[in-house]
Amino acid sequence: MSGNTESETDLDAEPFDGDHAYRKVDVDEIADVPSPATHKKEVDEAVGATTFGFNVYEVAPGEEVPWGYHYHPEHEELFYVLEGTLHVKTPDGEYEVGADEAFFVPAGAPNFAYADDERVRFVAVGAPKEFDQAVIRETCPECGEATGRDYEVLEEGDEVVYVLHCAECGAEAKRFASGP
Ligand SMILES: [Zn+2]
Repeated sequence: MSGNTESETDLDAEPFDGDHAYRKVDVDEIADVPSPATHKKEVDEAVGATTFGFNVYEVAPGEEVPWGYHYHPEHEELFYVLEGTLHVKTPDGEYEVGADEAFFVPAGAPNFAYADDERVRFVAVGAPKEFDQAVIRETCPECGEATGRDYEVLEEGDEVVYVLHCAECGAEAKRFASGP
């Protein structure tokens, strides 16, 4: 037997002190945030995680996951597929990530995930959370250039809608709301 961790077999013998702020959530109960996908649940925000991102997505056939073809300069991501097959476009070709498979996206690596002909449920973990800014480069529907995206937040009734615009010419590129 070896190991470098002091262990205590009787957990009641010497309780740890302090308020450890454990949190348990029902992911289905978390409100959706605006996303091109049917459901995006920010579990990290719901539990107050500060160093990593943890989002659960449900993506209907034909739906996209991110705001555009993008990379995160200083942020790693790991996609873990629960159900269906997640398609991920990259400069190296397209990957198909099936149920119980995981796909790692290193910092700086462009990617664009979507669902093809079947519903996909997957978990996206990313860290460090404070460096999750994305650089988008996607063909603008208006000017035809590979450009970044600005966004505005609109309130339409009691629904919040995100509208993405081409950073060069200002043309509307995409809009989406929360949930189905
Ligand atoms: Zn444009």
